[in-house]
Amino acid sequence: MHNGELVVRLDRVGKVYGTGASAVTALEDVTYGFARGSFTAVMGQSGSGKTTLLQCAAGLTRPTSGTVRIGGADLGVLKEAELAAMRRERVGFVFQAFNLLPALTARENIELPLRLAGRRPDPEWMRELVDRAGIARHVHRRPHELSGGQQQRTAICRALAARPEVVFADEPTGNLDSRSGQEILAMLRGIADGLGQTVVMVTHDAAVAAHAHRVLFLADGRPADVMEAPTAERLAAAITGQPRRPGVTRPAS
Ligand code: ADP
Ligand code: MG
Repeated sequence: MHNGELVVRLDRVGKVYGTGASAVTALEDVTYGFARGSFTAVMGQSGSGKTTLLQCAAGLTRPTSGTVRIGGADLGVLKEAELAAMRRERVGFVFQAFNLLPALTARENIELPLRLAGRRPDPEWMRELVDRAGIARHVHRRPHELSGGQQQRTAICRALAARPEVVFADEPTGNLDSRSGQEILAMLRGIADGLGQTVVMVTHDAAVAAHAHRVLFLADGRPADVMEAPTAERLAAAITGQPRRPGVTRPAS
C-alpha cells in the first residue's frame, strides 16, 4: 500500500445527460486518480459537474465515455448486479441528509448494510468506528434521540462498516451547524490519516474543503486546478481571485 496507489481512477470520463437539442455535457474528458489514504475535496461552481463526478466515480451513474476503476476493477464491464455488489462492498456513501432508518438504533443502522450483504460485523472494527465517532455511549439510541452531528457521525460509521476502498461524501456538513460540521470534518480527516481510508468529498464551501489533503477544482465539467494542503484563506483567494495564483498548480495529467 504505497502512497501513490490510485484507489479510484477516471480515464477520459465524459457524461452527457439527455440527447439532441436538450443534451447537457456534465463532464468532459476527466482524467484523475484518487490515492489510497487521501482526503480530496472536489470544488467548483454550481453546475460544474461535482455531483456527477462523484456519482460516476462511485458507480452510481454510468459515464457516457471513458473508464472508471475502483481498486483496479473497470466498472464499465460490470453488469448491474455486479455494479450493485461493488457499491455495497467496496464503496461507502455519506450524504447531506443522513438517511438513517428511524426505527433502528444507531448500532443497527451502522450494521445494516453488512447484514443485508450477509456479513457479520467485525466487533473490533465496530468499536474503533464508534469510538472515533464519539458515539460509543449512544449506539443504543434511535436517530431522533441523537443530535444532527451524532446522526451524521453514525452515517459515517455505516459508510465505513464494510471497510470500503473509498468513501464518497456529497456536502456532508450541509445540514449541520458549524461546530458539528467541524467534528464531521475532523472525523473524515481522521479516517484518512489514521485508518488509511480514501475519502472524496464534494463541497462548495472553502472552510469545509480546507480540511482535506488537496482540492480538485472543476470548471465546466473539467478538472481546472489542484491545490495541495489547502487553507481557507488560499481557497477563498483562489475562488474569488485570479484562477492562476501561486500555490495553485495544474493537475498532473
Ligand atoms: P454540481 O454538483 O457541480 O452542481 P452537477 O453534476 O449536479 O453539478 O451538474 C452538472 C451539469 O449537469 C449541470 O448543468 C446540471 O444541470 C446537469 N445535470 C445534472 N444532473 C442531471 C440530470 N439528471 N439530467 C440532466 N441534466 C443534469
Ligand atoms: Mg452537486
